[in-house]
Amino acid sequence: MKIVGKTDIGLHRDSNQDAFRIMALGPGAGFAVVCDGMGGENGGERASSIAKKAITQALEESFSENLTEEKIKPMLIRAFYSANSNIYRIASEHTELSGMGTTVVLAFLLRQKAYCATVGDSRIYLYSKEDGLRQLSKDHSRVQYLLDRGEITPEEAKNHSDRNKLTRAVGISESLDVDFFDTKLLPGFRLLLCSDGLTGCVEDEEIEAILSVGSPEEAAESLIHRANDRGGYDNITVVIVEG
Ligand code: CA
Repeated sequence: MKIVGKTDIGLHRDSNQDAFRIMALGPGAGFAVVCDGMGGENGGERASSIAKKAITQALEESFSENLTEEKIKPMLIRAFYSANSNIYRIASEHTELSGMGTTVVLAFLLRQKAYCATVGDSRIYLYSKEDGLRQLSKDHSRVQYLLDRGEITPEEAKNHSDRNKLTRAVGISESLDVDFFDTKLLPGFRLLLCSDGLTGCVEDEEIEAILSVGSPEEAAESLIHRANDRGGYDNITVVIVEG
């Protein structure tokens, strides 16, 4: 298994409020996390960085070589709760950070399976030659909510004025609702974790075409290039896991 990650400020922002971490924990075990912060000048950068650190620390502490499958979901949820309470506490102590939060998508990899936990509109996709590209995560966004209710079409969703509005984020409230799912990883798979700086600029069909060729490093580089070619309106983060 190989994991690569890249982040880029894009062409319009003054700071990069995305954060990512990739880490091997043992043979065939590791994780990747992507966070996209929000909440003003300093808040966004701070929130994504706190989340990345809290999740890394929680997983490092609770991982063991003989980890059983049923323990994984509670372990990931606990890591999210730790990130949530750290951000919420720090925001309540500093008025200038009030309201800060972050998306978090996490893929924990063990024995040819990915265990995923997500909050917000960063995404996890699975690519294979046989099945192409599939979005595994669900966006917790106002636009997704309107789509689910049939109030807007997928075409209208693309340029909707509410497209940056989240319905869930880590750190904005004392309580947190986390999505969890797992998936088998068949030989030749590629798992993509990304922030909306990629998906806001590059269509799924293009992401699939880029992800299907070259090394993971080349694919990550090309995805970021393509997002910047299409405007680079936001920070762009891409993590690719290959097995
Ligand atoms: Ca973003």
